[in-house]
Amino acid sequence: MEIALIIVNAFLVVCIFALILMLKYAYMSGKRVRINFDEMTGLLNRASFFMQGQSALDKLDKSKHGEVALVVFDVDKLRLINTLYGTADGDDVVCAFAKTLRSLAGKGDVIGRVDTDDFAFLTRLRGRTSEELAEQFAETFPQYIANASVRDQVNYYAGVCIFDGQDDIYTLFNKANLCLLTHADDQRVSEFSGDMEQRMVENEIMRTEMLNALDNGQFELYYQPKVEFKTGKIIGVEALIRWHHPIKGLVPPCDFIPLAEQFGIITKIDEWGLFTACRQGKIWQDKGLPPVKISVNMSQAQFVKTDIYATIVKALDETKLDPQCLEIEVTETMAMTDVEHTVNVLNKVHALGVSISMDDFGTGYSSLASLKAIPFDVLKIDRSLVCDVNDNDTSRRITSAIVAMCKAMKMVVLAEGVETDEQSKLLTDLGCDLAQGYYYSKPRTADEIEEMLRAEVDDHAENSAC
Ligand code: C2E
Ligand code: CA
Ligand code: CA
Repeated sequence: MEIALIIVNAFLVVCIFALILMLKYAYMSGKRVRINFDEMTGLLNRASFFMQGQSALDKLDKSKHGEVALVVFDVDKLRLINTLYGTADGDDVVCAFAKTLRSLAGKGDVIGRVDTDDFAFLTRLRGRTSEELAEQFAETFPQYIANASVRDQVNYYAGVCIFDGQDDIYTLFNKANLCLLTHADDQRVSEFSGDMEQRMVENEIMRTEMLNALDNGQFELYYQPKVEFKTGKIIGVEALIRWHHPIKGLVPPCDFIPLAEQFGIITKIDEWGLFTACRQGKIWQDKGLPPVKISVNMSQAQFVKTDIYATIVKALDETKLDPQCLEIEVTETMAMTDVEHTVNVLNKVHALGVSISMDDFGTGYSSLASLKAIPFDVLKIDRSLVCDVNDNDTSRRITSAIVAMCKAMKMVVLAEGVETDEQSKLLTDLGCDLAQGYYYSKPRTADEIEEMLRAEVDDHAENSAC
């Protein structure tokens, strides 16, 4: 009898123990299921996409390699959509991606949300070319977006890599991703090719060279005068970077600034530019030249990734340049990207006495709201409007309207890229205050600017420009 009781008790203990283990396992696997998926879309998350993607490649009949593609999608400016329309519409865009990919997927395809605004789609082409697949996506995607304005505005880029039978999922992904890094702005879909790898190698060399350039003093600031239309007097200069490359010679900024932005080096370069420009401004003043305002270009990364306010305070403090003699140039697109943050930072910078100018006005999203919120002192009309202001009625009317708006908002208006006497006369008649352009002077070295300023001192010894 006692033995039977012991056996029953032991049996019960084993059952309870087994039950605990089962509950624990159920709990753990439930947890695992939950972390495998992206909550918003229900798609695989990054880690699971790579795991399941690799397992799908392993199962493939390798002779069918040309028939499988990995497409990486990047939602363009999702943050801007969130800011302009609200996060509900931003989320709607993300979900539209998920719905579209699900509608295009077939058996064995793997879909993941691999970053906030990136999706990966490993798919069998099933007789379609990658272009046809991209077309199917482009037709379906807008149908899932509820807000018509968002539907018109939203854009995306896609990088495609066809499976060669050898790559693992990570290599395949990196290659598709490389298309996203190297595509032209107007190329929505790009497919991986061997020369991209070559370009990647070249870019990597460029990245190292740029970092060395900073350490080895290969960058130099040139300065382009800003003049008063009415008097022709230099009231400021814009600092424009040049790279003395040991082999390529003098490299203009358009050949390396976009890459520096891509590589995340731009913040270092811009910081160097800010300190150098402030130092140069002080040197000119110490030499008894009139205190011209120095403008420095700021990249978007400078706002997003660094404490630009602290950097400016430090630069002014170390160089002892009067804040009234510093101006920073911000583009419309930058001002629109994270309005709240930008307004906050620019207000603080402005309170130091530093001027703020809106660069390239008329090229990006022209927003009157950002003009109202940000304390712009100067608005620079882009060269694309100035270049045909004499021949094109629309350019002239737009320029005239911009001038009227600037006057109403008590902003100084500067015309960029003035190249001819006719442009100069018309822009003066239209009421522009300041000019910058080859007609007055190309960007010049600090020494050359010093000579120009010295010549002005002789002409207008009594005047001070800032
Ligand atoms: P930006 O800020 O719009 O600078 C004006 C550009 O127009 C300069 O080109 C200048 O040389 C050019 N330019 C001025 N007047 C004329 C003209 O009459 N005709 C023509 N065709 N061009 C004129 P640059 O120096 O090649 O600079 C190009 C862009 O690179 C700048 O455009 C700016 O966005 C960027 N950049 C230059 N230096 C820096 C820098 O230190 N940091 C950052 N983040 N960007 C910079
Ligand atoms: Ca500029
Ligand atoms: Ca400009």
